[in-house]
Amino acid sequence: MNREKVLSIRDLSISFQTAAGAVNAIRGVKLDLYKGETLAIVGESGSGKSVTVKAIMGILSGNGQVTSGTIDFTYKRGEETVHQDLLKLTKREMRRRINGKRIAMVFQDPMTSLNPTMPIGKQIMEGMRCHYKTPKEEAYKKAVNLLTMVGITEPEKRMRCYPHQLSGGMRQRVVIAIALSCDPEVLICDEPTTALDVTIQARILELIREIQKNTGISVIYITHDLGVVAKVADYVAVMYAGKIVEKGLAEEIFYDPRHPYTWGLLSAMPDLDASDEVLYTIPGSPFNLLNKGKGDAFADRNAYALAIDYRLEPPMFQVTDTHYAATWLLHKNAPPTPMPKELKARILRMRKEAD
Ligand code: ADP
Ligand code: MG
Repeated sequence: MNREKVLSIRDLSISFQTAAGAVNAIRGVKLDLYKGETLAIVGESGSGKSVTVKAIMGILSGNGQVTSGTIDFTYKRGEETVHQDLLKLTKREMRRRINGKRIAMVFQDPMTSLNPTMPIGKQIMEGMRCHYKTPKEEAYKKAVNLLTMVGITEPEKRMRCYPHQLSGGMRQRVVIAIALSCDPEVLICDEPTTALDVTIQARILELIREIQKNTGISVIYITHDLGVVAKVADYVAVMYAGKIVEKGLAEEIFYDPRHPYTWGLLSAMPDLDASDEVLYTIPGSPFNLLNKGKGDAFADRNAYALAIDYRLEPPMFQVTDTHYAATWLLHKNAPPTPMPKELKARILRMRKEAD
């Protein structure tokens, strides 16, 4: 398989100045996005998923600062292949050359990205008009096509609608149409379905998958729900307290997880078969990034923690060419520690269903 790198994040660290002190929200993230693939970033709320993608877009809030790292973006300009470290661009250059044009983002709440006072057709045409000076008639045609592509019926009539005249699911489709309007190489979806009901969530996921098949676009999909990711991801990165703690091909993360935090996330997934089962939750509360002491940030919540976890942060151990996990359990001197039996049984069930 010949995978082409589109985004390559190396050693990314970000901190925020707050009244209570510096919050080290992102700590040494290394991650790649490949052409035509979906990279899912999963983790509990507060683990650093949004901050990571905001850094890619150059839209960190004012008190945030990148303290180290590079974000290399590879794209085609005509025949030429361009490599650009996005962190070296100014906010203005990002707005003019990258945001919305080559990397587009869909947020959780469509209302925050739609203008309530402008018909949606005009909002879809705006990016093309501004980034590419597309003539009006051409932009109009393309907007109608985009609405059709995201599954909106009677597109010409909808062009004249205002956001409040559409349902939540429809609005999210419009936001996706806007994101796609300038033919970006990368689409970033930050919990795009969280506010929607389950059936509509499933349809939006299918839609993104279909668009990807047809356009070859690369997608970063963020969610706190591993269940969602099973249907969309090629590659999964699990985040905890500002670090990637495990990453691998979707099947490696779902069928052969190695990090106790990933075990917890998988165990906490609602199981459609056993609906009367009491849902597992990972004990303790998410890590407070202000009180960073010694050792692994997950140690206090980790039923499998070793003595060393309280002293030293684990490095990334390699499981396969594509699969890595930051847990001392993978050290050659660690006692053999299999995943919990209930989880093992559940994974066997998932595999059977998938076959
Ligand atoms: P999530 O994984 O839920 O998307 P975020 O990436 O939004 O989490 O946030 C990660 C952490 O970064 C938060 O727990 C918070 O401590 C910190 N953080 C994010 N934005 C700010 C900010 N503007 N000021 C201070 N801290 C912030
Ligand atoms: Mg978030």
